[in-house]
Amino acid sequence: MNPYVSRVLEEVKARYAHEREFLQAAQEMLPSLSSVFDQHPEYEQASLLERFIEPERVIIFRVPWVDDQGRPRVNRAYRVQFSSAIGPYKGGIRFHPSVNLGILKFLALEQTLKNSLTGLPIGGGKGGSDFDPKGKSDGEVMRFCQSLINELYRHIGASIDVPAGDIGVGAREVGYMYGQYKRLTGLYDGTYTGKGLSFGGSSGRTQATGYGLLYLVDAMLRQNGLDIAGMRVIVSGSGNVAIHAAEKAMQMGALVIAMSDSDGSIYDSEGVQLEVIRQIKLQERGRISDYPRRAGRGEYREGAAGIWQHRCDLALPCATQNELDLDSAMALVKGGVKAVAEGANMPATLEATAFFQSQGVLFASGKAANAGGVAVSALEMSQNAMRLNWTFEEVDRQLKDVMERIFEKVSRTAARYARPGDYVTGANIAGFLKVAEAMMAQGVV
Ligand code: NDP
Repeated sequence: MNPYVSRVLEEVKARYAHEREFLQAAQEMLPSLSSVFDQHPEYEQASLLERFIEPERVIIFRVPWVDDQGRPRVNRAYRVQFSSAIGPYKGGIRFHPSVNLGILKFLALEQTLKNSLTGLPIGGGKGGSDFDPKGKSDGEVMRFCQSLINELYRHIGASIDVPAGDIGVGAREVGYMYGQYKRLTGLYDGTYTGKGLSFGGSSGRTQATGYGLLYLVDAMLRQNGLDIAGMRVIVSGSGNVAIHAAEKAMQMGALVIAMSDSDGSIYDSEGVQLEVIRQIKLQERGRISDYPRRAGRGEYREGAAGIWQHRCDLALPCATQNELDLDSAMALVKGGVKAVAEGANMPATLEATAFFQSQGVLFASGKAANAGGVAVSALEMSQNAMRLNWTFEEVDRQLKDVMERIFEKVSRTAARYARPGDYVTGANIAGFLKVAEAMMAQGVV
């Protein structure tokens, strides 16, 4: 490893030992940038890496709200404004009881390189709260969202910081947050993406991350002489990303045999009936364990990790971080997996990723593979600025273009840095170079 990179990584480890996921993301990313620093000694002179790895700003605040029984409650919320080197901060908001600063810093760091990879002018950020929307009424979710915005509104804006959805934050939550933002500021300026179609949302945003994942997978498979048609596919999760990834995989002729939620997974050898999953998970906010009864076929297995035990050609982890560990990776390789692409952020552990790569499994990391969501968010920002609405077909065409260009860039960069086929390193370097160039040009800020 380049000695400068190694020194900065040691400093990060010492300073942020308690931020497990942030450290994991830094450990995955920094060593892969070694050859960049070998070639650019001026970056060390400018202390570029020490500056890059620190978020520009972190906002932490309490969110008091009143539940349906009239009892006051309080949650913690954060916004990590990681990098504005190439554009306004951009990244989703997550509502999940596990949310803490370390998780949001890891997500914001990943987001910074991902946004750079899209080629669009957006910086990196991420936010969230340890609020759990599960089991809450619409009224409770609305009051929570409004209270969160009562603080957050002063830190965001169309040219400042543009949030969107993530785990636990979909169209309902974005609508409540945007409504309150508008009420407090009097602005109708496109702050927030993932908005409803009737108030400035973009066609195709809901599908973008899942569809984009498959456009990139298709490009990766084709480069390696493989065809997705006829492949057996595992898609973990059953939220926004997973459902649309499964849908596009089926449209491309693949057979999706398993999906999951945080409690367990279902297996259906004839191919999952996506409408049943959509009804249970998106419409009713229910549990996937209901699938066999509702579909009249398939089987349910307790425990989310069991999903990786099935034989498949393509694995698409689309649920959450660290859901695919070394044991699961070994089971997948034993079952003949040919390619893995991350729909979620950092779903594979460091050990799992290294194992896939050592076994010659094609592996696309989330920074490249799930960039379709933020790419269409950037298109939503453009449409809002121009007061225009593009058709679904137009947005989908641009999404496909962006994903193919990302794959091309990642693949070319990997080859240029003597790591052909290493799409993890390719994505890290390609994403980082643009941010580094902008930081150098902007001086010590
Ligand atoms: P959703 O909240 O819509 O869905 C999350 C899904 O994952 C749910 O089905 C949830 O199940 C399931 N899940 C959570 N934890 C686990 C677990 N340990 N094992 C198995 N399943 C689990 O979120 P999204 O689909 O939006 O996000 C999924 C991932 O994709 C996240 O990593 C997110 O950061 C990433 N991502 C999302 C983008 C977007 O546009 N939405 C863009 C880029 C990345 P349950 O119902 O039980 O909670």
